[in-house]
Amino acid sequence: MTGKAAALLAALVFLGGGCRERDAKPVQESWQVMGTVATLSLPAARAGQLPSCVETAKELIGEVNGRMSLFIADSEIARLNNAAGGAAVQVSPLTGACLALALKYAGLSGGAFDVTVGPVVRLWGFSGGAHPTALPTEADILARKAHTGYRLLTVTNGTARLAEAGAVVDLGGVAKGFAVDYCFDRLAPRFPDGLMVDIAGNLRCAGSGRPGRPWSVGVRNPFDRDRIIGKLQLTGGRAVATSGNYEKFVTIDGRRYAHIIDPRTGRPVEGMAGVTVLAPRAGDADALSTACFVLGVDEACRMLDGLPGCSALFVPDREPMEIIVTPGFAAAFTPEPEFKDAVRIAGR
Ligand code: AMP
Ligand code: MG
Repeated sequence: MTGKAAALLAALVFLGGGCRERDAKPVQESWQVMGTVATLSLPAARAGQLPSCVETAKELIGEVNGRMSLFIADSEIARLNNAAGGAAVQVSPLTGACLALALKYAGLSGGAFDVTVGPVVRLWGFSGGAHPTALPTEADILARKAHTGYRLLTVTNGTARLAEAGAVVDLGGVAKGFAVDYCFDRLAPRFPDGLMVDIAGNLRCAGSGRPGRPWSVGVRNPFDRDRIIGKLQLTGGRAVATSGNYEKFVTIDGRRYAHIIDPRTGRPVEGMAGVTVLAPRAGDADALSTACFVLGVDEACRMLDGLPGCSALFVPDREPMEIIVTPGFAAAFTPEPEFKDAVRIAGR
């Protein structure tokens, strides 16, 4: 469960103006976890509570990682993978909930989001696989793909089972958002006036960063990571997640291959540079951003239409840059002036 190297949505942008108290910057602390960086932010008036809040967040996110990491030998997911093809293994309610969430989005996306794609993810050098120096052959891909498919995974009454030897669950596409929710749900009652929990651009926030102003985050430019393409205003405890082709990739014969696999082909997705999803909860946003990245704009929009409160921004991997937003996303998004003309509403 290594994290994506960095987030599409990273720069926190705090809107300026007003009196001194209103201008005080939120306070924040970052730490390494899940192979990436987590950041917790509170309004300046809560600075004194930051250390205890961070301590709680570290415990909660650490618990998710300890139970679900592929890289911890006795994690519940490692035990599930080791028992593939054999008996069901016991899982905690927490791991069971994350697996159930993964299966929900596997079904909703027609298998575009599929946490059993693990053997293929490894073949391409991600999630602990050896970095390939040559392109995997079609035979290699088919051999790995034969052990994938979300129907191999069943989750019932405190147990989980993988029906085939060689199958591997990889929660890298959902666990960070799931961990944000686990942390947020426990901390938000203590900090209803302002709280933001962020793991590598999977984030959720309550209240405001400065009195009377919603949290605002920058959407990173996938073609120029140091710049943003616009700002997203987050109200009402909403969550955001990002998937980008620049976050983790391998280069083979001078060509870049991204870490998100199309389970239908067993090959890295091409044609998409970045997807940002707004949703009521971070676990849903995380699974959805990966699913939308695989599905492409049209199919993704059809899926999102049936999901209340969920909307997306897409940046296809082509020049000139296009920023395609669903109507729900457009309502919360302000493009930077230079990208105003690049924006269009999906389906129009
Ligand atoms: P994200 O950055 O949230 O889009 O997640 C990408 C990570 O999810 C990858 O690094 C893999 O560990 C895993 N993954 C890759 N392809 C898929 C897929 N089609 N469905 C679910 N998880 C995937
Ligand atoms: Mg994801």
